[in-house]
Amino acid sequence: MVVVPSNISDIEPYQGGKPIKEVAREIGIPESKIIKLASNENPLGISPLAQEAIKNVLEEGSRYPDGNGYYLKQEISKKFSIDSNRIILGNGSNDILEIAARTVLSPGDEVIYSEHAFAVYEIVTKSNGAVGIVAPAKDYCHNLQNFLSLITNKTKLIFIANPNNPTGTLIERLTLKNFISQVPESILVVLDEAYDEYLDDDLKSVAFSWLAEYKNILISRSFSKAYGLAGLRVGYGVGSINLVELMNRVRQPFNVNHFAQVAAIESLKDNEFIEKSRAINNQGLKLISNAFKGLSIEYIPSYGNFISFKLQDEKCAMMYYHHLLNNGVIVRPIANYGLPNFLRVSVGLESENNSFIKYLSNCNI
Ligand SMILES: *Cc1c(COP(=O)(O)O)cnc(C)c1O
Repeated sequence: MVVVPSNISDIEPYQGGKPIKEVAREIGIPESKIIKLASNENPLGISPLAQEAIKNVLEEGSRYPDGNGYYLKQEISKKFSIDSNRIILGNGSNDILEIAARTVLSPGDEVIYSEHAFAVYEIVTKSNGAVGIVAPAKDYCHNLQNFLSLITNKTKLIFIANPNNPTGTLIERLTLKNFISQVPESILVVLDEAYDEYLDDDLKSVAFSWLAEYKNILISRSFSKAYGLAGLRVGYGVGSINLVELMNRVRQPFNVNHFAQVAAIESLKDNEFIEKSRAINNQGLKLISNAFKGLSIEYIPSYGNFISFKLQDEKCAMMYYHHLLNNGVIVRPIANYGLPNFLRVSVGLESENNSFIKYLSNCNI
């Protein structure tokens, strides 16, 4: 047997949403009848501009992609008025989280993240031999006071998901900035903003404007959620020029494929698509929340494109999960996030949300 260090064998495998093809195979429902509300994907699909752009460059797939992602970085730089030397691209924002961890962590270092926070933080912490320190949440939300009290001289990295997945909670700008100002400069604070595009304008992150003041923050963004490119795998990080230069040494030379780069460039230009996605999401959040209210099901009000809702106990949650699944609606159990009584549903198109509500309502247990 190959000997594997315990920090690796201790890692709990990441559990993603069940793929449509797998459910079709297992339940025997045609793929076209299955509604996947399990991975916070954009129900509108890929922006038409991005689709067109990928089709036009299909034959370029035989060449290596631009390892520096020059044009995509230019587009991000232009859109947010940030120096392109502050930008690093990733194979999904998961890649950014992992590169950040590999860049700053040595075995035995401590990494702080919240209870009920995104599962990838623990994976990248453990895979680097570091120790995860879990800050207890308050009302399912990150409690930054708890983060501060857990900082030691071994702390090297802090992960904050804002909004958080799977709870959908949001930390106010001022509270977050005040927190960052109290974290020692030697500790990297990763602000994971995968759902920022879904926020209303007055709630959107302004963390790019903090970069001049704080050299120890890294803002992570994704094209997988509102931009609808989950299958292409592309995201980016924005931080100090020095940090980004070091992170670039750690990443794989061609970590973002050509089609992802091309699609991301066009997606960034398609404001109409993002506005439409946001509007549909806001309507869906209202529809689903109202249904929960009507059914007296407790839920966590969400700033993302998903809602987690609470059932009596874990057994009941799994019965609802299977009832929905057997009717072709895939949602996500979140016991591995310390929320065994909960399920998480992603917001879909209106018809998809209505199917979810229908099967939620007729579950007899
Ligand atoms: C979905 C998600 C991501 C994005 O992952 P990608 O690798 O960009 O697909 C990052 N952080 C959180 C909290 C998420 O929920």
